[in-house]
Amino acid sequence: MKINFIDLQAQYKKYEKEINSEVLEVFASAQFIGGEKLNSLEKNLAVYTGAKHAIGCSSGTDALLLALMALDIGVGDEVITTPFTFIATAEVVALLGAKSVFVDIDEESYNIDPSKIEAAITKKTKAIIPVSLYGQCADMEAINNIAKKYNITVIEDACQSFGATYRGKKSCNLSTISCTSFFPSKPLGAYGDGGAIFTDNDELATKMRMLLNHGQNERYKHKYIGINGRLDAVQAAILNVKLKHFEEEVRLRDEIGSRYSDLLEDADVITPKIAEASTSVYAQYSIRVKDREAMVEKLSKLGVPTAVHYPVPLHMQEAFKDLGYSTGDFPISELVSKEIMSLPMSAYLSEAEQDFVVQAIKG
Ligand SMILES: *Cc1c(COP(=O)(O)O)cnc(C)c1O
Repeated sequence: MKINFIDLQAQYKKYEKEINSEVLEVFASAQFIGGEKLNSLEKNLAVYTGAKHAIGCSSGTDALLLALMALDIGVGDEVITTPFTFIATAEVVALLGAKSVFVDIDEESYNIDPSKIEAAITKKTKAIIPVSLYGQCADMEAINNIAKKYNITVIEDACQSFGATYRGKKSCNLSTISCTSFFPSKPLGAYGDGGAIFTDNDELATKMRMLLNHGQNERYKHKYIGINGRLDAVQAAILNVKLKHFEEEVRLRDEIGSRYSDLLEDADVITPKIAEASTSVYAQYSIRVKDREAMVEKLSKLGVPTAVHYPVPLHMQEAFKDLGYSTGDFPISELVSKEIMSLPMSAYLSEAEQDFVVQAIKG
């Protein structure tokens, strides 16, 4: 059996007619940047998440960068985040000359441990970026309460959690600013790079809209130093089609994730733990195994592709050596990074494929 890690081709087949017709409309209109498709996507994203403003942009990385720029974060400032994430979360902090201060994760959720945040706060702390990893929201209420006490802004890195819920609210509507990614393999994926920023704050929304368009407030009048961080119309058109079907995909992902966990209950692996008041979109379905290398090899021989998110925590990355951290500083992140591996996952994984993966793990 040939199994795809993420089956984007099956998804395209399903929406082919709608996607083709939307994309051809963009070609015919020659409105490639901005315009009707982007406006309608932004409206639909706001309705979907419940956030007042949804702003399309060029990627999840740029969404995070724009959020920090809007908060004037730069040299001398500190931003608290998790070392167990994709590099982009902390990369943008460094790009602006600010300093990432890492806080270890909770061993069940793999998200930043709120009980360890206060000890990391200093006079220089400007923001906290909790990452809603693998599709489950960080404990945003606990984090927001701490942030409020110290007058710090919270930015949810929701690049993996678009569509997830936390205490009845949607991810991307749980903190002052939220950032998501439409990278093709994310739960809501474009056919290229893309992202979005969410906020209820009118001033921040206006500022981020200017920043992503070279800080321009009217044509060739520049209020800020910004970037070219726009989302193009072709991607917006594709995302609009996929968003229409997204709730159904979220439901399928939830079913498939839960089914994996049921089937793997008696296997010698640790399955994801989803908090009672949360749902996950399973951007990754990641398990922990004691001997990962052996498991990866065994599965690979049987034709089951896997991936590791992420093998090296950020405090141990060469790119962050100037932060002065050492191995051993964040023991839970280090332990999980040694044991974690992701299994094939998409809304289109069939039961037969899933059974094959599970048998391969158990066999
Ligand atoms: C994918 C991802 C990003 C970056 O998104 P891009 O659209 O690829 O720039 C940032 N943070 C996390 C947690 C991600 O998974």
